[in-house]
Amino acid sequence: MKVIRAGRLIDGTGAAVQRDRALYVEDGQIVGIEAAGEASADAELIDFSGMTVIPGLIDCHVHLGFSGSGFALGEFRAEDDQALLLRGVGAAREALSAGVTTVRDLGGRGGVTFKLRDGIAAGLIAGPRILAAGSPITITGGHCHFLGLEADDEAGVRAAARRMLKSGANCLKIMSTGGRMTPGTNPQVAQYTVTELRAAVEEAERANVPIAAHALGTAGIRNATAARVNTIEHCNWLGADGSVDFHESVAAQMAEQGTAVVPTLVPLQRAAAALRTQVIAAMRRMVTLGVPVAAGTDAGVSLVRFDTLPDELAIYVAELGLTPVQAIHAATGGAAKSLGLDGTLGKLTVGRAADLVAVDGDPAAHIAALRSVRTVLKGGRVVVENGVVV
Ligand SMILES: [Zn+2]
Repeated sequence: MKVIRAGRLIDGTGAAVQRDRALYVEDGQIVGIEAAGEASADAELIDFSGMTVIPGLIDCHVHLGFSGSGFALGEFRAEDDQALLLRGVGAAREALSAGVTTVRDLGGRGGVTFKLRDGIAAGLIAGPRILAAGSPITITGGHCHFLGLEADDEAGVRAAARRMLKSGANCLKIMSTGGRMTPGTNPQVAQYTVTELRAAVEEAERANVPIAAHALGTAGIRNATAARVNTIEHCNWLGADGSVDFHESVAAQMAEQGTAVVPTLVPLQRAAAALRTQVIAAMRRMVTLGVPVAAGTDAGVSLVRFDTLPDELAIYVAELGLTPVQAIHAATGGAAKSLGLDGTLGKLTVGRAADLVAVDGDPAAHIAALRSVRTVLKGGRVVVENGVVV
């Protein structure tokens, strides 16, 4: 039994900060929470009484095999599987050092990400828990076709989803529009019909795994919402002419059915200022309408590192109008709900995994305090000490 004393506790449910709490941890799980008092002599005390304890962070959108350099795509295409796996080992450590104890990898090559996931789960190397989509489903020549999972009609999409699940995916990703980084694809138009997207969603439901849709344009966002994917990535509401074309009825449907947006605003910082301003305005409307926000960075793409989730959350506070506690919820309890992990991860409540981060300062007052990571526990075990992976 371990007793973790928290000077301040943000439990990931969206509730306000609690003061002076004690968390009891056994077999990697939280088994009790009460007011901090005298710890019993037979329990190991971990004292964070001068710090704030939050749940381990969840980054809902990363690419562990991408380098995060300015040439991420070229490097990815040139490297063999062994090199990609080593990159992933480094990326996993970098994420963990920032307090990220769970990531969802939304696109890599073949089984490399599965091997990385399984090696971390087996305790061979340090890293966050991983949900891995493997290769995303895309049309022939479509966005990220070089990841190797092209499918062109309803039966093809269904078969592609089944193949990826058979090879080990524990989440799915489908490209609902083109993307900026794949030449020859169009982010403004839909790649799939609702029926085709729905085939992938049905396969995800059958396997009880979450499914993400990449969608930059409004047509693809509308289709993905109608197909009831769990999360919509980027969600830039690009109309046919490339300017922002926000559809309130689609956002309202997302809110009603609980389809979350994964904003990935760190990479959007380099978009043209006028476009960025319009996208942010649309996302603020989504927040107002009650669309759930699930935090994600797109780490691994050009110039986005794996320790940038605190920066992403700071943008939610500064520009989307979330309070710091709401932003933390988007990367903890809210993220877990959107990924179907609500029963086990994302909240510091009884019965959930003891994945937690101790930071200096009070992130509920100043979200930037999330960058001051001192100690990280994953499954009740210390995995980061003084900001360094142990
Ligand atoms: Zn991505």
